[in-house]
Parts: sequence; C-alpha cells; structure tokens
Amino acid sequence: MQVRVAGIVKESIVDGPGIRYVVFAQGCRHNCPGCHNPETHSFQGGYLIDISTIIQQIKGNPLLDGVTFSGGEPFEQALAFGELAEQVKNLGYHVMSYTGYTYEHLLKNKDTRKGWAKLLSLTDHLVDGKFELAKKSMRLKFRGSHNQRIIDIGQSMILKKIVQYEVL
Ligand code: SF4
Repeated sequence: MQVRVAGIVKESIVDGPGIRYVVFAQGCRHNCPGCHNPETHSFQGGYLIDISTIIQQIKGNPLLDGVTFSGGEPFEQALAFGELAEQVKNLGYHVMSYTGYTYEHLLKNKDTRKGWAKLLSLTDHLVDGKFELAKKSMRLKFRGSHNQRIIDIGQSMILKKIVQYEVL
C-alpha cells in the first residue's frame, strides 16, 4: 500500500514527545487561514511512497521514540495511515497524529468514513482541530493555536470523556 506525502522528516523533536519520524500527508480540505503548509493542500501534489519503505526507514533508526502523522490531513488517507499506524504500533512505537477535524467529529463519523475508526484507535495522541490564526501562540508545545488539544485517545475511549495530554 502507498501513501501520498508532502514530505518526510526522519528525526524531529518538535512534532511530539521524544525523537520522532514525521510523515507529512499530502492533501487537505480545511483551508485554515494562516496555514503554514499551503503546499500540502492539493491532493495531486507531493509523491507516493510505499508504506514498506517508511517502515524500513523507521526500523533503521534506533534513536526514534515515535512516529507522527502531520499534514496536510492524515485522515483524508485514513486507510493508508491506518495501515502504517498498525505496522508502527507492531514495532512498539508511539503514534501521534495531527488532524484539522475535531475529536468529536472523528468519533461521530468514524463508522462511515473509510479507515477513520482504525486510524483513530491506533493513535496514542491526537492533536485536533483547525489552526485558528486568532488563537495562534508560539508558546504552545506541539500545537499552533489554543483551540487545538492534545488528546490521549486510549484514556479518552476508556473513560468516555476527553482526556488531554499534559505537556510539561
Ligand atoms: S488542517 Fe493543517 S494543513 Fe490543513 S489547512 Fe489547516 S493548518 Fe493547513
């Protein structure tokens, strides 16, 4: 299976906890004013890469703590990112995903949008919601604006309420 990406960063310390491999999804419909990655919006842009190639690169770096899906919008390619998340989790890595959708929207539509349920269930931490320019802050860790939350998906599903991840 292939995924369409805008790019890949093989080591990052700004896209989630620890040292992370970051896959930037190509394609996004949210059109957030002030988006930092407008080149990722087109669904024809970027390039296709085999998930097996990504997995080989991840396996080749013993320094990694986790893998982050950024955007673009990973949930527009939820089947492919779900497959990638499954293989990443099988290797024992933490998965963090960004999305312009809210967690509530993903929950409401997870049974009708292909791959959403699987990708959501394999995500450890979800950074949700559109980037809102009026709520932008440079002080926020791993987020661009105050409306975005870092949600602990496992705990949220167990407790049936939104549990936010406390960033130190
Ligand atoms: S969701 Fe992300 S990539 Fe998409 S428009 Fe908003 S900030 Fe840009």
